[in-house]
Amino acid sequence: PDTSVSFIGLGNMGNPMASRLVAAGYRVTGFDLAESARDTLAESGGTPATSAADAVAGSDVVILMLPNSSVVEAVLSDESVLSALAAGAIVVDMSSSEPLRSRALAQRLAADGIRFVDAPVSGGVTGARAGSLTIMVGGSTDDAAAVEGVLSALGRPTRVGEVGAGHAAKALNNLLSATHLWATSEAVLAGERFGLDPAVLLGVFNSSSGRSGSTENKWPNFVLTDSYDSGFGLGLMLKDMRIAVDLAEELGAPSVLGRTAVERWQRASDSLGQGADHTEVARWLRQNPLQ
Ligand code: NAD
Repeated sequence: PDTSVSFIGLGNMGNPMASRLVAAGYRVTGFDLAESARDTLAESGGTPATSAADAVAGSDVVILMLPNSSVVEAVLSDESVLSALAAGAIVVDMSSSEPLRSRALAQRLAADGIRFVDAPVSGGVTGARAGSLTIMVGGSTDDAAAVEGVLSALGRPTRVGEVGAGHAAKALNNLLSATHLWATSEAVLAGERFGLDPAVLLGVFNSSSGRSGSTENKWPNFVLTDSYDSGFGLGLMLKDMRIAVDLAEELGAPSVLGRTAVERWQRASDSLGQGADHTEVARWLRQNPLQ
């Protein structure tokens, strides 16, 4: 495709995603603060830049895969980045950012003639490598259509509403996902004490109404294997949970269960550290059953 793409944020998700775009034939220039991340991009055939401004210069599509809204805003308020953005360029924030901040950011960028779409993802590092991510697109129909080709190289894009709608959907999804992981862990640990084999119990859940991404994927692949290597950090999950419960509260539809889940996950994070894999909460719960 005759489209140049720049990629800012080449971490656990960014690098495998950028690599899919290279494989699909896009010219990809990327930037990350970490040199090792830039080296990985070069190994997969992309072109590392020495700054975000260098990366975005002349690009048709600018993809961000950064930790959170504060970092996204910092990158997009840098004068050198704004002046390097080509007229008509479209910025796609694929990070899990805050919906209301994304809306405000889109308005600020629109004043400079820069288009903005939010397109967060689900499917983890495995989905990023396979190009099978679920992509929740928020933006005008025209803008969503403009990036559909690029996003299709990364997974299945679906427009879910106006700007911010993707980020709202993503945060709410992760609130459910985190609550499911906690609830599944409590259920498996109780079953284990009764004498049930965890694998047998998960098999029952998976053919019954208790199934979820945690019973089908997280517990069998990252907990039972004792690997805890999903590639999604505990701190990032907590950030998403907070975005969702704060949003719900602000909208007058508070999540009581969600607020409790945030408190429990916070205790695990205080003990394990933000950098731990998020699936480690299951191990932590087994070791700290009264938490
Ligand atoms: P990560 O921490 O592995 O990667 C983030 C990268 O951003 C790092 O390499 C860091 O060096 C870079 N960075 C930070 N500030 C920067 C700046 N100012 N300029 C350039 N680069 C900068 O995180 P990740 O797991 O890749 O997640 C990225 C986003 O995707 C997060 O919002 C996360 O919540 C979301 N997400 C992650 C997963 C997952 O499974 N890991 C799944 C879905 C969504």
